Amino acid sequence: MEKKNTVHFGAGPAKLPPSVLIQAQRELLNYSGTGISVLEMSHRTSEFTKIINTAENLLRELMNIPENYKVLFVHGGGTGQFSAVPLNLIGLKKDRCADYIVTGAWSERAAKEAQKYGSVNVVHPQLDTYTCIPDSSTWSLNPSASYVYYCSNETVHGVEFNFIPDTKDVILVSDMSSNFLSRPIDVSKFGLIFAGAQKNIGCAGVTVVIVREDLLGKALRECPIILDYKVQAENNSLYNTPSCFSIYIMKLVLEWIKGNGGAEAMEILNRQKSSLIYDIINISNGFYCCPVDVQCQSRMNVPFRIGKKEGDESLEKLFLDGASKLGMISLKGHRSVGGIRVSLYNAVTLEDTQALSAYMKDFLKDHHHNEVDH
Ligand SMILES: *Cc1c(COP(=O)(O)O)cnc(C)c1O
Repeated sequence: MEKKNTVHFGAGPAKLPPSVLIQAQRELLNYSGTGISVLEMSHRTSEFTKIINTAENLLRELMNIPENYKVLFVHGGGTGQFSAVPLNLIGLKKDRCADYIVTGAWSERAAKEAQKYGSVNVVHPQLDTYTCIPDSSTWSLNPSASYVYYCSNETVHGVEFNFIPDTKDVILVSDMSSNFLSRPIDVSKFGLIFAGAQKNIGCAGVTVVIVREDLLGKALRECPIILDYKVQAENNSLYNTPSCFSIYIMKLVLEWIKGNGGAEAMEILNRQKSSLIYDIINISNGFYCCPVDVQCQSRMNVPFRIGKKEGDESLEKLFLDGASKLGMISLKGHRSVGGIRVSLYNAVTLEDTQALSAYMKDFLKDHHHNEVDH
């Protein structure tokens, strides 16, 4: 079937670069002269070894990952890491406790899971709504915590950190599932970074873990072997069968990122795209309303309500139906927050975003009956 002119703004699994899909299609039946597909290929073959090594080397290059970090490709998604992080790291210090910064649905889930394995301290008063990051001067960090955990971009609530928390000497862990490789970051500031591939760097099935070597080998006795970072590291992520095809797709996306200028270029593009959407929200006189504080509005996921602050559901439905008629899909907000959510991951182009912003302008003109001053 031909590819339609659909613009996919979904939160994940998300849009892939069309050139990646075309290459995967071209190579599907006969990968590199082997006569078989990557889907059918043993993970012990020289061809697959080349795929997984290339993926790792590209990641190292694109993120400038220091030598003393291991790169792992594991199963279980971001959610698997909610368990793997405490199972591997909470025992680093004898108190078995960890600090969590809870700024949205995903860090909330991670903190809840970690409670099974040790004591969890949320470093700020519980938030009633996830629309801000409590000022870091108010955090009560525990110096004997084994690690400090945060989610650098809350996919559901659209809250993104534009700074790296200062944890003094305590190890920093971050869930970067939804803004991975969307901008350059200093990996050396972290003990561990993880990200599911299906938002910014590929399809579902593989999760990247970047972990500092000295943190390996400290897992709790009850840590399932499949979640043990040391075992995965010693076996180059081939302790058992990995998600071969997902790793292959990730390799293609990483090649695409490199070919398009790397993390620096992604940052510029992502800034431009998100500004297009926030600019319309800001000039709409409250017709479009993003509840998130300006300084932590996400470049990756833009949630907003339409018509009034708490949202006019009939107007929102009209907006979604109209968008869908123009081929713009997956714009419905997460079921827990409602409204609209625009996800602008790396593969979403400036043109895709311009089409949406033009539609938002038209919709505003047609449905906003109050004065608009701009
Ligand atoms: C999507 C997402 C997850 C969960 O990923 P799964 O692969 O579905 O387990 C975790 N954290 C963040 C920030 C996400 O965006």
